[in-house]
Amino acid sequence: MGLHTSLISPVTFENCRIPCKQRIGEEGKGTTIFAQSMQWERSCLFATYLGMMERQLEKTIAHASARKQFRKSISKNQAVSHRIVDMKLRLEAARMLVYRACWLMDQGEDAVMDVSLAKLAVSEAAIQSSLDAVQIHGGIGYLTETGMEEMLRDSIPTTLFSGTSEIQRDLIARRLGL
Ligand SMILES: Cc1cc2nc3c(=O)[nH]c(=O)nc-3n(C[C@H](O)[C@H](O)[C@H](O)COP(=O)(O)OP(=O)(O)OC[C@H]3O[C@@H](n4cnc5c(N)ncnc54)[C@H](O)[C@@H]3O)c2cc1C
Repeated sequence: MGLHTSLISPVTFENCRIPCKQRIGEEGKGTTIFAQSMQWERSCLFATYLGMMERQLEKTIAHASARKQFRKSISKNQAVSHRIVDMKLRLEAARMLVYRACWLMDQGEDAVMDVSLAKLAVSEAAIQSSLDAVQIHGGIGYLTETGMEEMLRDSIPTTLFSGTSEIQRDLIARRLGL
């Protein structure tokens, strides 16, 4: 569907023996190492989507200001401007959660819940804001030339990879003692 610059393919290992000296960390620590590396993936990978949402917001504001219908800019309609405000709100809230999760990890603190909150916020914001951006661009948003449909396609898998939204909510629920 999207992410065409990041190729997806199966990897098969046949009769593959790895010498012990190549092992990452101590024997039996695989789960811990995996969980730690996933925390960085869930933060840093999703930070790139903050950049995408920033560009999307800039382009949407520019379009809404320039595009005139019924003798005024479409941005002068509250239904349009409020939708853009919500895009901004989602972006900034997600950004703060990502920064806090990374700061906690830098301090060596337990950041499992914060990383999951950040991942959820960024991914769900990216999808919703991409839908909003297409809607505000109107018909041209559905065409490839504005790049809006590409951002939507690139956002869709964010609630799947690096642990689905359901799994993130499970992790948070467990940290809340549920
Ligand atoms: C673009 C992209 C890149 C990816 N890159 C990688 C990669 O680099 N490495 C890698 O290993 N994998 C990668 N994946 C795979 C990704 O991690 C999985 O698709 C994802 O974990 C979901 O697993 P699944 O596809 O088997 O779906 P399923 O496990 O079949 O889940 C289907 C649905 O059921 C829900 N579900 C399943 N179990 C539960 C449960 N216990 N409680 C509540 N809901 C549940 C899921 O949340 C999901 O909504 C990538 C996927 C995509 C789309």
